[in-house]
Amino acid sequence: MHVPLNFHPRQPDHAADPVHESPVIGNRVELQLITTLRCNLKCTYCSAAVGDVLGSQGNVSYSLDHLDAFIARYLGQHEVYVTFYGGEPTLNLEFMQSVMERYPAFRFQLQTNGTLLDDLPDSVLARLSNILVSIDGGEEVTDGYRGKGIYRQVVKNVNKIRDRLGGTLTARVTWSSADTTFEELDELVQAFDYVYFQFVAMEGAYAPEMVEKRKQVLARMVEEFFASHDRVYPMIPVMGVVRNQVLPSRATELYAGQTQCRVSTHILNIMPDGKIYPCPDMMYMPEMQQGDIVSNWLRKSPLQPHPAMPCGQCEAYAWCRGNCLKNLHLAYVKGHEDYRSQVVEPICELVRFLGREVERRDPRAWYARAPLAVRNKVANNEVYEYVEIMP
Ligand code: SF4
Ligand code: SF4
Repeated sequence: MHVPLNFHPRQPDHAADPVHESPVIGNRVELQLITTLRCNLKCTYCSAAVGDVLGSQGNVSYSLDHLDAFIARYLGQHEVYVTFYGGEPTLNLEFMQSVMERYPAFRFQLQTNGTLLDDLPDSVLARLSNILVSIDGGEEVTDGYRGKGIYRQVVKNVNKIRDRLGGTLTARVTWSSADTTFEELDELVQAFDYVYFQFVAMEGAYAPEMVEKRKQVLARMVEEFFASHDRVYPMIPVMGVVRNQVLPSRATELYAGQTQCRVSTHILNIMPDGKIYPCPDMMYMPEMQQGDIVSNWLRKSPLQPHPAMPCGQCEAYAWCRGNCLKNLHLAYVKGHEDYRSQVVEPICELVRFLGREVERRDPRAWYARAPLAVRNKVANNEVYEYVEIMP
């Protein structure tokens, strides 16, 4: 059939709305599309289980015409990248494929527990810029939190899909156990392109001896990073601290100086029913709702720095930029005292320790001696857009 050059497909009615000034800060936006809130695992510390969010909704119920209208209204001038998130997002593969077909110019990332990775078709794998695979460290710890046999199943799946993947593979470690060793995390460096770790937000995980054990592992990581100028040790929080100390403007430019996990500026977590929140761990708090795909509205992220937060007086602020704003909000704005003393303060102590370990090895001298390819990998890595960078 001949299609005349001036033919335009019929637009949904919302698309006739005027373009609104966007509350998204900066020129990029990450749409974290929760394809389903169902999951095939039952991880003991799952943050989506807080407030009974996990399992509270099934698959996406808004239409792609709704999404079109929302993008046309608020994001017409932005570079968009999509992270498929859950629950376990691959349980709704059909939605992932429809989004990829509808928006072929977007970048795509998948955050998955890895158990169903081998079921993904080549057409999807080839289009993913990055896959974040959740894991907890070594085999014993991972199986303890996720279920027997999960660690081996995930590593097997990762090896199966490696050659069919267009982008990078990143292990996303929730550092839950103080017994996780350097060797276990280093083993992940061999199996993945990058390793990102985040300290678990769980009371009881940071008794003084547990903090000390984690410090020893952090020190080994930093030592390994600086052991050679000729390669980048791909442990993202260490890379990120080095980058931010050597090139402080990189810690601020994509986030308007706010937290590098993007919740105050340019990440939109979209629930299956279309409600929008800045942080996926706060979707149980109605005051955090930032917009809605179906009724097509969006406001500036309500999750912002607050004078009660201690970052302004912190030695780490120039490169940390507030790490996890959820943690800071719960501890200092909501005033949850146990959470502050048992979770947030010990994590901040670990972050400062990591920064001091990097600083005392003179990262500027290391960077000055590194070959261009190594510098480029530390300074300009696309993977920083897909994780929170700080632990
Ligand atoms: S270490 Fe803690 S107090 Fe310091 S800047 Fe980071 S989040 Fe803020
Ligand atoms: S790091 Fe950012 S996205 Fe992650 S839980 Fe904290 S505030 Fe939310």
